[in-house]
Amino acid sequence: MQECSVAEPQLSLRFLGVGNARASELGSASAVLEFANEPGLLIDCGPRTLDDFRANYDRELPPAVFISHLHLDHIGGIEQLFYRAYFTQRGAIKLFVPADLVAALHAKLANAPFILSEGGANFWDAFRLIPVSDWFWYEGLLFQVFPVRHSGHRAAFGVALGGSFLFSSDTRPILEVVQEFAACGETVFHDCGLHASPAHAGLPDILREYPAEIRARLVAYHYESEDAGKAIEAAGLRVARPGQQFSLQAPLGAVALVAAAADRADRSRVGAPLSP
Ligand SMILES: [Zn+2]
Ligand SMILES: [Zn+2]
Repeated sequence: MQECSVAEPQLSLRFLGVGNARASELGSASAVLEFANEPGLLIDCGPRTLDDFRANYDRELPPAVFISHLHLDHIGGIEQLFYRAYFTQRGAIKLFVPADLVAALHAKLANAPFILSEGGANFWDAFRLIPVSDWFWYEGLLFQVFPVRHSGHRAAFGVALGGSFLFSSDTRPILEVVQEFAACGETVFHDCGLHASPAHAGLPDILREYPAEIRARLVAYHYESEDAGKAIEAAGLRVARPGQQFSLQAPLGAVALVAAAADRADRSRVGAPLSP
């Protein structure tokens, strides 16, 4: 059981877009973790994300980006980010990428001799690549990364800041993951369309698989249309809209998170108790 305590900076999460891969009118599904209303970590960078970032903030580029998986509605803006970053902030933007995805991301975007038509540039020159497995630090906070259920084993990853939020990325329901990484009242931002699919959670899944206590702090995003958002809302869930900002609880300290992870590791070694 995690020790639930609060402290520190004023955090919020703002959605730049909330649409699924076909709902470009709702923006590319992505969000920004803000520190005292200033943009910090961008989660995912789809085709519309950078334009929406500029529209929401008085600056061109995010200081850091976490990539959840390699579908183009989540990375389609990275090439644009390269061109903007290479000429203005070369090497300054931190790109947190799950280690499992680094080779595939490199093959998709970076493995070419003429990233610039005049040559002389490597894709990674523009960024500070930080491969991540279970953890990463950003702005003195310890984030946790976990695989979700979307298009294959270890092909997509969510991110959580203990005490503050869990961001599911694209996924089917992941009750056991939410119970593990959002055990202290965190806001749970969750993939939720009106209709389910083999790779995404739908409203009936969320209603069936999550208890009321989690549904009460769940915010749906990555849906099909504005009408779908209204229908999800009518069923009793909170629904994120483009540009909407959510205040977050203060994060847990890193020591509490590491202790909870150690507890988890112990439990997995011993095995779960048998049901009576
Ligand atoms: Zn998606
Ligand atoms: Zn996806």
